[in-house]
Amino acid sequence: MHTSALVLFSGGQDSATCLAQALSRYQRVETIAFDYRQRHHVELDARTQVLSEIRRTFPQWASRLGQDHLLDLAVLGEVSDTSLTRDTAFRMEQSGLPNTFVPGRNLLFLTLAAAVAYRRDLQVIVTGVCETDFSGYPDCRDDTIKAMQLALSLGMDKRFLIETPLMWIDKAATWALAYELGAKSGTAGGGQLLVDLIVEHTHTCYLGDREHRHAWGYGCGTCPACELRARGYERFVASGQTRQMQAP
Ligand code: ZN
Repeated sequence: MHTSALVLFSGGQDSATCLAQALSRYQRVETIAFDYRQRHHVELDARTQVLSEIRRTFPQWASRLGQDHLLDLAVLGEVSDTSLTRDTAFRMEQSGLPNTFVPGRNLLFLTLAAAVAYRRDLQVIVTGVCETDFSGYPDCRDDTIKAMQLALSLGMDKRFLIETPLMWIDKAATWALAYELGAKSGTAGGGQLLVDLIVEHTHTCYLGDREHRHAWGYGCGTCPACELRARGYERFVASGQTRQMQAP
């Protein structure tokens, strides 16, 4: 029986939804993120904001939400040359991968997360990776994650479970999952409150845009991450599960 989890929490829509799921399941939940000198610091700012809003809005989750770990991973910026860490435009590479791909990033993240989970005695590692959406990052694939689970469990001689709640669902279903988790949280109107919180405080845009507010949140509206988030949100709203939210 698993009772504790460490959530890879970047401050985006996906990891915020994973965090909500972990809080609905486990007695003790901690969060981790990595500062690898991302071009934009807004993601790291967003996560602080999301954590404090979750504590404020969902008191029954607040009592389960423990320590937050922010690890310095500047070395990742040194070994990679991508549009996430350098000031270059987003484009597709010849390999068929977008230049936002940081080789080995998730492998490193999971290894460091497991080291922290080991030290903190946390049984489950939760990550919002997904095979369904556009990017096709090879280190987000289900097989990669299963291989990592095995390697980390063997290499640290501790049975880790790596949970990937979003692996097989699309962005519209991710919004719907957040609604469902919020609704079951014990906070009145929690479904809509969690969707609102994710819209307002999480950050996804590759360009770090926090100026333009859309119904689905802040962002440039045209980068691949914004497009994906916007399209998913539109389909979620069209499903009738949530009220349409207006940009202020
Ligand atoms: Zn954008």
